[in-house]
Amino acid sequence: MSNPTRTIEPIVSEENSGEKSPNFSENVSTQSVHAGESRQKPGDSITDPIFCASTFTFKDTQSVIDFIEQKQPREEYGRYGNPGERVAERKLAVLEGGEDAVLFSSGMSAIVGLLMSKLSACDEVIFFDECYHRSREFCTKHLSRFGVTTRQVPACDYEAMEAAITPHTKLLVSESPTNPHLSCVDLDRFAGIGKQNGIETLIDATLATPYNLRPIDAGIDYVLHSVTKYLGGHNDLLAGVVVGTKEKMESVRNLRGIMGAVNSPQNVYLLSRGLKTFELRMQRHNDNGQRVAEFLDAHPRVERVYYPGLESHPYHEVAKKTMRGYGGLVTFLIKDADWRQTADVVDAVKIPRIAPSLGGVESLIEQPLVMSYYECTPEQRIEYGIPDNMIRLSCGIENADDLIADLQQALA
Ligand SMILES: *Cc1c(COP(=O)(O)O)cnc(C)c1O
Repeated sequence: MSNPTRTIEPIVSEENSGEKSPNFSENVSTQSVHAGESRQKPGDSITDPIFCASTFTFKDTQSVIDFIEQKQPREEYGRYGNPGERVAERKLAVLEGGEDAVLFSSGMSAIVGLLMSKLSACDEVIFFDECYHRSREFCTKHLSRFGVTTRQVPACDYEAMEAAITPHTKLLVSESPTNPHLSCVDLDRFAGIGKQNGIETLIDATLATPYNLRPIDAGIDYVLHSVTKYLGGHNDLLAGVVVGTKEKMESVRNLRGIMGAVNSPQNVYLLSRGLKTFELRMQRHNDNGQRVAEFLDAHPRVERVYYPGLESHPYHEVAKKTMRGYGGLVTFLIKDADWRQTADVVDAVKIPRIAPSLGGVESLIEQPLVMSYYECTPEQRIEYGIPDNMIRLSCGIENADDLIADLQQALA
């Protein structure tokens, strides 16, 4: 029986030799089924039970004192975590190759929790501009009220990022791949800029997942995921996670206990159950994404496809160097279409459902102009790179031929 936390050394291909190749684990399935769990569980149950408890009892006063003096690791009060949450955290830390993972009640609460625990008045944070719009909004509208300055530079413009660094800069932030343009960050370079300048780095790797991208191996300090997406994977829960060293995560965990942004025992059960099939799902999302992107790329009604697995993608080389697969998210533009003709394509598909979100077993489709940027001015949409004829499709785990046939009829 193999050790679930063991990682097999990657085979360095001829093509990659000389370059630092990412350390992809060959046993993600074993990790996602077993890592972080006790072998023998309460009640001899094979699954971790759902403990419905807001608080945890102490036998006597001495056990309270032992707990406070940290002689006895155990639960205390539900806002500081629960047993199922710790299992899911250990599993996520192993999958990510990090020391410690802190789960939050959503991806956004993870972002807010990390930024609030790391930044103080007069500090500066630099973002690549293709970032989840709510993360940007938190920085520009809210962190600014606490005296934190946010600087945004064009995505993947490393010179601009270096030029924006000041003695007050505390954190460099990017997504990889970005949403919805799927630009891919050169992680070695990004981590290098942080290290050279003594600044911490954060990658929101929600679109890649630990199956497709290894930011910690590349020297990134914090990896963040909206667990709502691929890690949960079933469009049935909200959660977020930050992974880093034990030392760096301590202040994040403490702030989470104060914010109260924890997961209910029922929610973590859904997450742990969803994680069991993580590798199988990712393999199918990667295959479906690639096949759908290639189909769309060859279709006469499609002006442009954004997918890192296509050679035409501006970040294909970076993606090849850093990623195992390219995920299920495909963004494309309908040729010579206004917003209404684009909406007609969205309305004509029969399998994907119209909804925000991504990364679940059900395919989801949306027009970013309508779903996320409806209240922006046309100038703002141009600034954010959201044209009227853009569609974002999150390929689920359905049969690829069915998805392609459906898109074929919708485009006709
Ligand atoms: C969805 C998403 C978030 C926010 O996560 P929630 O779980 O919805 O709060 C953050 N970053 C990225 C890249 C996302 O796709």
